[in-house]
Amino acid sequence: MNSLNKVQSHLLAECFNKLFIGGQFVDAIDGKKISTYYPATGDFLHEFPRGKANDVDAAVAAAEAAWEEGTWAGMSAAERADIVTKMAQGIEDNIEMLAEIEAADVGKPYRQAAMTLGGAAGEGKYWCSLGKVLDAEQDVPVNSGGGEGGVPPAEWDVVYRRDPIGVIGLISAWNYPMNVAFRKVAPALVAGNCAILKPSEIAGLSCMFIGKLAQDAGIPPGVFNVVTGDRDAGAALAASPSVSMISFTGSTLTGSKIMGACAPKLSQVALELGGKSALVVFDDTDLDKAVETTMKGFLANGGQICTAHTRLVVQDSIKAPLLKKLKEELEKLPFCNDPITEKDRGDRAWEAGMTDVVQPVVCDSQHKKIMGFLHEAKAAGVEVLTGGDVPDDETVGNSGGYFIQPTVLINVERDADVWQKEVFGPVLSVRSFSTEDDAVLEANSTAFGLASTVMSSDPAKAMRVANRIRAGAVFATSTGEGLLAEHPAVSRGGFGFSGVGRELGIGGLHEYTELKSVNYTGFSLADAKKQRTG
Ligand code: NAD
Repeated sequence: MNSLNKVQSHLLAECFNKLFIGGQFVDAIDGKKISTYYPATGDFLHEFPRGKANDVDAAVAAAEAAWEEGTWAGMSAAERADIVTKMAQGIEDNIEMLAEIEAADVGKPYRQAAMTLGGAAGEGKYWCSLGKVLDAEQDVPVNSGGGEGGVPPAEWDVVYRRDPIGVIGLISAWNYPMNVAFRKVAPALVAGNCAILKPSEIAGLSCMFIGKLAQDAGIPPGVFNVVTGDRDAGAALAASPSVSMISFTGSTLTGSKIMGACAPKLSQVALELGGKSALVVFDDTDLDKAVETTMKGFLANGGQICTAHTRLVVQDSIKAPLLKKLKEELEKLPFCNDPITEKDRGDRAWEAGMTDVVQPVVCDSQHKKIMGFLHEAKAAGVEVLTGGDVPDDETVGNSGGYFIQPTVLINVERDADVWQKEVFGPVLSVRSFSTEDDAVLEANSTAFGLASTVMSSDPAKAMRVANRIRAGAVFATSTGEGLLAEHPAVSRGGFGFSGVGRELGIGGLHEYTELKSVNYTGFSLADAKKQRTG
């Protein structure tokens, strides 16, 4: 059995072939399918239901019925978390299978898929640990609003509560399929909502397993649903009058369409969007570390990370040696011809570099899009330091896969598309600076603001620059350590084109709640509680 056949044998399970609605695995009403292909070869991988607006309506109706019935929202958050914990454990128990599926679906090396899936399970458990924290936030006295007269009068007993929002839609991207999806599913459910997940049609197979995890964990029917489908299914979910919130991860363009769809009904949005993150390197940075960080920043996951550091802002005095070494290192990298079996090369530690192989990009349309950026840049006279094209057939074994050479474009104009727009592939654009002010100006010179990094051996300088960069997450580092890493307790999100709202941390859980004040007068909360229990 070859590697692809092995993955296809996993995909025979019911959950990878049906929608999950009202606690049951069901066919799409119109019976249409979407096909997906192995990025390393272009071979057929699997077909799965193309859910449409009528399927979305059925899932919304199931979620609405569960919401109105009230069992889930009526449980304490800790009780819900106990159930969701079983789902997180289910990810952990199935990492090998899920990692093979993600390797085949996205084209990422198995070992990276396995590592990030472990992260999804761990993060899921973190969300569950917040169940108790959320419970402790119910009926918390409002004892200070800050400022003069900030304390409500004693005879007015005011408390805060965090209510679930209702029926919510979760629309996810393909680059880290399970991580992106479960980062929404777990907090949404712990907070007490009923949800419909719409994974990406480009690579969302692992997300279909969440339906099975919900069923096995004993989530009540209708509380969690999965509808696979393309953008039409996503648009139907966003526009549904019964859906009170959309939590979305994907491109900036789609995010703005979703915001538009939610505007007439004033439903909430949480939007995790694209990025064009800058890596600012000062000349007091260790050269090897700067090169390694640059490579990791723009090449991890094939450059298909929202926080990929695809703009290098390098100080003039270190530019020449840095680019020379970067070119040498990039040209040594092998292509990853079979991500499903890419387990351990035993050379550069993958957790440190994550850039020891070049993976294919996810699909033909992304390949064309990235190549379009490169053709346009070259036609406009942008200088190519290395790469800039598809590898020759010999290099990738004449595979038919969606490979692109790691590409570095230098002396890029600030208004060039490759500086301003998200390419979402293995492409780095470089500009240089001389002063600290210039560095800040370059780093802030796009409409995005997701993440950025300042490298310097001078902590005070790194801090000054980090504090002036407009991004939801900034790293200030002398080593590059932690670049692209996320901790579940540390917020992530975007300024500007990179999004609205924040994920992770207690704030990430609050995104799935409504803050409510309950104002007791004439009797106190204590009286009310006594009556309830007495
Ligand atoms: P995309 O916007 O094309 O699609 C994302 C999802 O939206 C898919 O499920 C798709 O079917 C759905 N969709 C498309 N059109 C829709 C519409 N009109 N209404 C509702 N849903 C619609 O993005 P993608 O190509 O899947 O993902 C790549 C993008 O995701 C990149 O821009 C990347 O930066 C971003 N991303 C952001 C984060 C983050 O945390 N900020 C994380 C991962 C990926």
